[in-house]
Amino acid sequence: MNPKSKQKFFITAAIPYVNAKPHIGHALEFIQTDTIARYHRLLGQDVLSLSGGDENALKNVQAAEAAHQPIQPFVDQNTESFRQLALKLNAEFSVWQKGSNSRHHQSSQKLWQLCHEQGDIYKKSYTGLYCLGCEAFYSPDELNQDGQCPEHPGKKLEAVKEENYFFRLSKYQAQLIDIIQSDKLHIVPETRKNEVLSFLKSGLHDLSISRSNHRTKNWGVPVPGDNTQRIYVWFDALNIYQSGIGFGWDQDHYHKWWPADLHVIGKGIIRFHAVYWPAFLLSAGLQLPHKIFVHEYFTVDGQKMSKTVGNVYDPFTLIDHLGADPLRYYCLAKINPFTDGDFSEGKVLATYTSDLANGLGNLVSRVAALVDQSGKEVLEDEHTIIRQELRHHLDNFRFDLALADIWQRLRATDQFIEQKRPWELEGDELQAILQTLVAHIRQAAFELQIFLPQTAAQINAHFKGPNITKIDPLFPRLDQ
Ligand SMILES: [Zn+2]
Repeated sequence: MNPKSKQKFFITAAIPYVNAKPHIGHALEFIQTDTIARYHRLLGQDVLSLSGGDENALKNVQAAEAAHQPIQPFVDQNTESFRQLALKLNAEFSVWQKGSNSRHHQSSQKLWQLCHEQGDIYKKSYTGLYCLGCEAFYSPDELNQDGQCPEHPGKKLEAVKEENYFFRLSKYQAQLIDIIQSDKLHIVPETRKNEVLSFLKSGLHDLSISRSNHRTKNWGVPVPGDNTQRIYVWFDALNIYQSGIGFGWDQDHYHKWWPADLHVIGKGIIRFHAVYWPAFLLSAGLQLPHKIFVHEYFTVDGQKMSKTVGNVYDPFTLIDHLGADPLRYYCLAKINPFTDGDFSEGKVLATYTSDLANGLGNLVSRVAALVDQSGKEVLEDEHTIIRQELRHHLDNFRFDLALADIWQRLRATDQFIEQKRPWELEGDELQAILQTLVAHIRQAAFELQIFLPQTAAQINAHFKGPNITKIDPLFPRLDQ
């Protein structure tokens, strides 16, 4: 490999169902994914990030019917609102792939054909319990003690009988155990890896991967060579990760980026990503993704988010009110990605005041004012790097620890000002203190590019030097 060519890093966020508008949980995942992408860009890697809309699900069809709308404009509209959310959060996705895109159809049919050529797809009659929330069949032993879906307790399972195509999942059991045990497909955290391993060891049933035209209302990707069936949503939705980068329509581009270096997903869809997806890829003779980062969920005001409780939180108004960075900061600094975190407007506002207005914002204003009053010039630094401690936290997806580390240094800088009392100094002594203070601010701004892109850009622009003037508050005080 040419040492000068950049290392590539292909990262994906989960592809959301677009049967409804996005909620705060989607914001969390977009922010986490974007932060990892920005980190790898700052390391000098060539980064491609992807998300999009899972538009072919049965529940989209039903939601469109309930809204008395044709399916295509319904999913277009909802997918667009997810894209808008990402844009408002400054979560940059290089590729935004829609499931109804014709190239995606072509790509999913190619994946089907490759699995079919291996003899891994066969047709049989089937009766089963279907959870529309998961878009998946459940066998009786997988249900909770009330006989309901473990992800959607309270939701009625549908008894479905039809002739479907099946994928020989059972054939890949031993291979899947091996690749996950050995971290060839690395699942983070370890607890989730163990959960997948115990599921694999309990035995795999073959998987239904098509639905009749009757049930899908002719929506979705047609099964190659059979005009009575559509490809099952997960077989097709997971393939958005490949179709978005050219699989089946631009093989050069595809080979430049595949396999994915990292899939970012929520805990509810781990089985689809860590069992079904690698099995399809193994069957098709394609490379496996390197790593899956599984994050936990947001509760809202201490309760699981649900339509029934009525606490599904729409993040748009808050972003319009505060800007993207305060929400990014809350999601990254106050949430351990490996435990459920709680969201409430009150907590976001309190954090805004304590950590952003009184913390970062106040320190930046203070240092700018000191330099301004001194009449001195502060030259540009040689170079800035991401500190080792920060890299360690980011490599382990502990955004909260990374930001705690940066904030610890901000507080230390504040204390340094108190100790040195630069307002009582002059000459070289003052010059040296100001140089140190500005270097601290520049270092913080450099690292904050990963987390708070707008704020970091503002600080960087203002502290370029050699002349640094007073700065308007980065985080104005909130009216009650
Ligand atoms: Zn379910």
